Order: sequence, then C-alpha cells, then structure tokens
Amino acid sequence: ARKSALASAQQVAMTRDGIAIPVLANIGGPNDLENALTSGAEGVGLFRTEFLFQDSEALPTEDEQYQVYRDIAAALGDKPLTIRSLDVGGDKPLAAYPMPEEDNPFLGLRGVRLCLKHEALFNTQLRAILKAFQVQPNIQLMIPMVAQVEEVKKVKALLAHQAQQLGMDASKLPVGIMIEVPAAVLNADALAQEVDFFSIGTNDLTQYVMAADRGNTAVAELVNYFEPSVLKAIELTCAAGERAGIPVSMCGEMAGDPNATQMLLGIGLRKFSASASLLPGLKAQIRQLSLQA
Ligand code: PEP
Ligand code: MG
Repeated sequence: ARKSALASAQQVAMTRDGIAIPVLANIGGPNDLENALTSGAEGVGLFRTEFLFQDSEALPTEDEQYQVYRDIAAALGDKPLTIRSLDVGGDKPLAAYPMPEEDNPFLGLRGVRLCLKHEALFNTQLRAILKAFQVQPNIQLMIPMVAQVEEVKKVKALLAHQAQQLGMDASKLPVGIMIEVPAAVLNADALAQEVDFFSIGTNDLTQYVMAADRGNTAVAELVNYFEPSVLKAIELTCAAGERAGIPVSMCGEMAGDPNATQMLLGIGLRKFSASASLLPGLKAQIRQLSLQA
C-alpha cells in the first residue's frame, strides 16, 4: 500500500474532469529536497532562504549562497526552483546582523522592506541568485512582503544593476512576488503588470487581513484562513492573475490543507506549494474533485 501511495504521488494530480493541477514543495534548505522529490513535488514553489542567514554567526558569502542555490536547482533537474529572497525582520533577528528592536515588528522592517534598506546584504543575495541562474535556468526569484509597485521596481533596478556588473541580462530571470499583505491584494492588477507570477502566502495574509498576530494564541480564533475576508482576498488575487495572464500559486499553510482544496479550486487557484509530507494527501484530494459543477 505504501509503495502504491508513493507511486501515485509521483503522478501528476488531475482533477476528475482532467485538469492537471501542479503541486510543488516548500523547502527550508537542501536537506528537505530528497523528501520533496520522493513525495512527488513538481518543483519547489517556495525555498525559504532564511536558514542560510539564521543558523550561522557570520552572514553567508555570495559564493556560499551561489553554491547552495546552484546545487538545489541542479538536483531538481528541469523542475523549477523558486528562491524567496531573505524574509527576516524585527521578530526574527539575525545573530550575524543585529538590527534595532521595533515596537511592532510585524508592521516594521520585514522582508523586502528590510532588504531595500540594507542594500549590501540584498545585493549579495541577488548576485548569488543571478550567478546560479546563469548555470541553472530553472531558477526563479520570489520577493516577500511586497506592498507597493514601487518596491518591485526598486528590486528590479537592483537586479538589473547587479546583472550588468556580471555581464548578463537580468530580464531573463523570472521575478514573482508573494501576495501576503492586503495592499498587494487590493493593487494586484498593477502588480501583475510588473511580475511573472504571484504566490499567495496565507500565513501572513490571514494575519494582516484579520489584524491578528499569527503567533498569539489569544487571537487564534481570528487567525483562520477560512474567514470570508481571507477567501475573498485569495479570490481577488486569482482573478487579477488570470486577467494579466500570470500564474498564481499558493505557498502558505492553507495550500497543504486537504480541507481547503475544494474551496481553493472553486475560487480560482490552480497551483499549490506545500511541505513535502502533505503532498501525497493533497494530490489524492485534487484527484477526487472536479472543476466543473
Ligand atoms: C506565508 O506567509 O504564508 C508564507 C508562506 O511565508 P512565511 O510563512 O515564511 O512567512
Ligand atoms: Mg510570509
């Protein structure tokens, strides 16, 4: 039974009416890769690069990062590797890079905001990603915590500048954003004009839509991705992606929840990324559903 479960995990997940729904894996480092592949991942939809920065006393060098990105991409063959740029902030301090404490870290210098304020740190990562992309064209870049079109433009300008220094063309690297801030949902049409893909981060999106700290048990009842407002935000994002003709994936925890799959397909989601252990169950669930009523 286990053997046949693994065998069917390797197959594409088709709905009952024959639509293939891509299912990818979230990984936190190279150690997660083997499990992702044996669980049937069709690529990596979210590679959280924080581990490179959090687990050491010194910041990872450009070359160290380059090797990790290149090796993971190579191990994936021609399956996509979505590298998320550094997503730390006041609540996740870096030993190697002390920053001032903030009163409201979740509303502070996090994700892309921090990277744009600390350009040297960001440029090192962008260069490592660009260099890896030169040898591994299955790499794409994903930017977390985007709230404005301006932030995307700034990231692209930095990328273009670094690429020019490396003698390469940055416009070839696919660049997408996480949709996890309500501002990005409300302005998704404009953002979609600037990027190659969206990926919905329901962990933060739920927290920010509901104004309820995702780690605070006192408000846990509000931190619920089945809230109609959160579902509406997901639906709006899928519709904006569809209008612009860009893929919309989901990489928050909701994507791996089989109790959410039917709802998500119903409101327009067509691509999922979740932890390896959840992929076989997710694929099994997709196979039971139909996009047609
Ligand atoms: C999310 O916010 O849903 C997400 C995938 O990112 P993280 O959990 O790393 O903040
Ligand atoms: Mg997030």
